[in-house]
Amino acid sequence: MAGTAQHKILLDESQLPTQWYNVVPDLPSPPPPPLHPGTLQPVGPDDLAPLFPMDLILQEVTGERYVDIPGEVLDVYKLWRPSPLYRAHRLEQALGTPARIYYKYEGVSPAGSHKPNTAVPQAFYNAKAGVRKLTTETGAGQWGTALSFASALFGLECEVWMVGASYDQKPYRRIMMETYGAQVHRSPSDLTQAGKAIRVDNPEHPGSLGIAISEAVEVAAQDPDTRYALGSVLNHVLLHQTVIGEEALLQLAAVDEQPDVIVGCTGGGSNFGGLAFPFLREKLAGRMSPTIRAVEPASCPSLTRGVYAYDFGDTAGMTPLLKMHTLGHRFIPDPIHAGGLRYHGMSPLLSHVYELGLIEALALPQTECFAAALQFARTEGIVPAPEPTHALAAAIREAQACTESGEEKVILTALCGHGHFDLAAYESYLSGRMVDEDVPDERFADALADLPEVPA
Ligand SMILES: *Cc1c(COP(=O)(O)O)cnc(C)c1O
Repeated sequence: MAGTAQHKILLDESQLPTQWYNVVPDLPSPPPPPLHPGTLQPVGPDDLAPLFPMDLILQEVTGERYVDIPGEVLDVYKLWRPSPLYRAHRLEQALGTPARIYYKYEGVSPAGSHKPNTAVPQAFYNAKAGVRKLTTETGAGQWGTALSFASALFGLECEVWMVGASYDQKPYRRIMMETYGAQVHRSPSDLTQAGKAIRVDNPEHPGSLGIAISEAVEVAAQDPDTRYALGSVLNHVLLHQTVIGEEALLQLAAVDEQPDVIVGCTGGGSNFGGLAFPFLREKLAGRMSPTIRAVEPASCPSLTRGVYAYDFGDTAGMTPLLKMHTLGHRFIPDPIHAGGLRYHGMSPLLSHVYELGLIEALALPQTECFAAALQFARTEGIVPAPEPTHALAAAIREAQACTESGEEKVILTALCGHGHFDLAAYESYLSGRMVDEDVPDERFADALADLPEVPA
């Protein structure tokens, strides 16, 4: 087979999906609604209007199975989509596994991750609604970069609160956002009540996604020309990301394959939901039967060690209450290197799908993930972002199990971003300084004691 094996499965532009897929109507029951933090009643579209444009609010609650992708969005998607699906032949050989490993590579986008798949439509719908400025948070910097890029294309201003620890460690991410024209603040900042309240106690606070969200929401809620954009967690974000799975379905079909196992990393759940939901549709319709498994960091394990409850999406408690797997909105995770996975909650839709027993979850320690990343880089050539190293480590575990059992499983994963701005994390691993933190139950118990009270 030398020289003939297919490594890269490409679609042409005419095969770019023209609709996003909404999994909700295909589920046995719908996910519980978000609640207003004051009245504890389900939020209506008008409650969300200060934060989001109506097109996105309607996508958040839509019962339609498919939503058309606007032509203006498709035109931007075509800068990098359809993205390639790779068969990891060299990794398979290194593992000596009979499994076949495929990875959908989203690092080919201008921002270097899957995040522009939703940043572009979010900027488009805001611009269409006459909004002047978007505010947002960013953890590792991927989302802030994607929204800065998308804002530039649609003529919007963009103001980003970047988690302090990342701001200090990743100046190049900040510079990239500024290159696209965004204004970037270290969070917690002195520009908001939420930020000031935290800086009083600790001016050098490393920040968290929950704090940065509070700051960005606070600023958007006070300015009628400004809206807020979220890069994960919400239904409309997962909806936009389904282009990943729809393309992967076509690509696997082109080589006559069906996945036996799908693994993906989960921070707020968007790249995983985006990859997995179109396959879940096929599974629920009886056309295939993959095992679908979410992989999260052991130091921020909302699915495997959190509770399923209503909680705030942010630290200050300003957002609607979301029914989700959560570690508590006041939980500040250890500063692990996969900044994009350091979120206390999980997408309500993905949490619901997990509760329904339609997906599994696994938590992995970061040193195993970086060992997998090195093996991947040294065989496949791509240096992964720290987040998808979790997906790769899980894929390698599965492939090793096939080596033992002799099973020829087809494993599919998303390599949702490259790690070119995350080399400090690699250095920490290469120099032997990276450690695995064991989070005791008490630390979760403290934050979970603070969950908002919601009548059953
Ligand atoms: C943001 C990000 C994540 C985590 O977010 P999800 O919504 O869970 O996908 C994972 N990987 C990369 C590369 C990211 O940028």
